[in-house]
Amino acid sequence: MKRQSKPKVAFFDFTDCEGCQLQFANMGTALLELTELIEIVNFREIMSEAGEDYDIAIVEGSITTDNDIARIKAIREKAKILVALGACAATGGINGIKNRSSLDLAKQRVYGDKAGQINTIKVMPLDAVVKVDYYILNCPAYIPEIIAVLKAMLLGKPYPLPNYPVCAECKMNENVCRYEKDQECMGPVTRGGCNSWCINKGNRCYGCRGLVDNPAVDAAKDILQKYGLKTEDILNSFTLYNDSQGAKYDQEFK
Ligand code: SF4
Ligand code: SF4
Ligand code: SF4
Repeated sequence: MKRQSKPKVAFFDFTDCEGCQLQFANMGTALLELTELIEIVNFREIMSEAGEDYDIAIVEGSITTDNDIARIKAIREKAKILVALGACAATGGINGIKNRSSLDLAKQRVYGDKAGQINTIKVMPLDAVVKVDYYILNCPAYIPEIIAVLKAMLLGKPYPLPNYPVCAECKMNENVCRYEKDQECMGPVTRGGCNSWCINKGNRCYGCRGLVDNPAVDAAKDILQKYGLKTEDILNSFTLYNDSQGAKYDQEFK
């Protein structure tokens, strides 16, 4: 019997730190098992070949220049499936900090008197420009979610993003709430799915997975009420990862 050929996978990066690709490269035996099912033809962090013939594009990073727009459109045109890898690609992530100020001011702060020569635009996640088929959230990408998304993709199934706040997982993990320790935490308004990664390690949630769909009505409400907070209070304190979602904030909370 003729063996079906494996789908060809290529990795691409835009504006980012490449930490999510590093997570991928660090998957250990899971990565080896994955190569039984897919053929990686382009992955700069682990191989020197750079094949241009691919079925699946796994794309890291935000769109921040006009050239990026043309490049991601060309990748989308070639790929049957496009996966956004990590917060920069999926929600704009930490790069969205640039959107806090005017573009001119941002350029001038970084490039000084060379600002006029710089081609840069407001930060956008990939889906502001092209259709994204699968999202892997987090900064950096969370390995169990990478595996879950790839499994769904290879089975031809959708991967619905978790739609509950980080608090739900944090409670299951029996963590002491950071608010009990007089610390703020963005868990009540942040989309779960990371198994409360940071809180388990003694940190707080900085919102790297973006907003949960209904932060004001889910389990988050109880925690916010308990500490006399409103969703706006938390959102105003935590913009580290979510500035490029400004329009979504406005729509949901104003
Ligand atoms: S999401 Fe975080 S770890 Fe991933 S590329 Fe962006 S900045 Fe780096
Ligand atoms: S607010 Fe933060 S620490 Fe408290 S339950 Fe929610 S995620 Fe956990
Ligand atoms: S706890 Fe918050 S900041 Fe940490 S990985 Fe999860 S969503 Fe991101």
